[in-house]
Amino acid sequence: MKDYQSLLEEIYAQLKSSVGLGQVADYIPALAAVSPDKFAIAIETVDGQQFQVGDAQERFSIQSISKVFNLTLGMKLSGDTLWQRVGVEPSGNPFNSLIQLELNKGIPRNPFINAGALVIIDSLLDSLEQPNKEMLNFVRKLRCQDVFYDDLVAASERETAFTNLALANYMKGQNNLRHAVQDVLEVYCYQCAINMSCAGLARSFLYLANGGVVPASGEVMVASNQAKRINALMMTSGFYDEAGEFAYRVGLPGKSGVGGGIVAVVPGELSIAVWSPELNDHGNSVRGIMALEEFTSLTGRSVF
Ligand code: GLN
Repeated sequence: MKDYQSLLEEIYAQLKSSVGLGQVADYIPALAAVSPDKFAIAIETVDGQQFQVGDAQERFSIQSISKVFNLTLGMKLSGDTLWQRVGVEPSGNPFNSLIQLELNKGIPRNPFINAGALVIIDSLLDSLEQPNKEMLNFVRKLRCQDVFYDDLVAASERETAFTNLALANYMKGQNNLRHAVQDVLEVYCYQCAINMSCAGLARSFLYLANGGVVPASGEVMVASNQAKRINALMMTSGFYDEAGEFAYRVGLPGKSGVGGGIVAVVPGELSIAVWSPELNDHGNSVRGIMALEEFTSLTGRSVF
């Protein structure tokens, strides 16, 4: 049994004053208002131990981290047919790149860029009557009850969704969206507006550290082969055009969001979530990456 508490406290103390190194997301007022000082790290192990430091119980906007939940449910419902409509290659481009989508003829490079997530959501609309409600139920099955939509963030997402609308319209024109653009966008905006805490995020990702099975309940969320694939996609594409840098510095499958959250998985052992709102130019949390780099450097717990 490993005691990570003192390690988290050490990393926290070391990075506590590392603010001013990036910019809090400001494309919507609800995100711009978050204090840059917020900082939390949480670990939960597959055998149920929890370690936390900082603002680990405070909910924040998980933004694109929800793309992992969307993909998991999409793979469960649609299986391999998904891969006819979305690729599995790193994008090497910003998460909302229009130029790349055009070059790829409306087939997004992977499910974690915005265009890819829009396709996954389109696939969810094939079988789910109430996708937003189902998604919350899905996260609650991951043993995280403290999960809600922030209606204010969802409304702001909708009001500023010009680029996402352009991506969706382009894919509709290329016959890669089955449902109405507005319907897909509406669900997408809500998925960006999921609020969870660091502790909740760490817990909810445990199924990916445990071959697709929620450790506490034994519920199979996806087959182990699919969990392997989701982890592989997080490793190669979870950080957009910074995926290589994250793999190089941290060496874990993970996913970021512009709310400043990052969650990463040590297969077979634990998941770890970090929240620090200041972002670098790629839209990834500056201090979040620093904290995870320290974690894997000090523990040797990377997949490499
Ligand atoms: N709401 C953001 C968008 O759609 C999500 C992007 C992100 O977290 N990387 O652009």
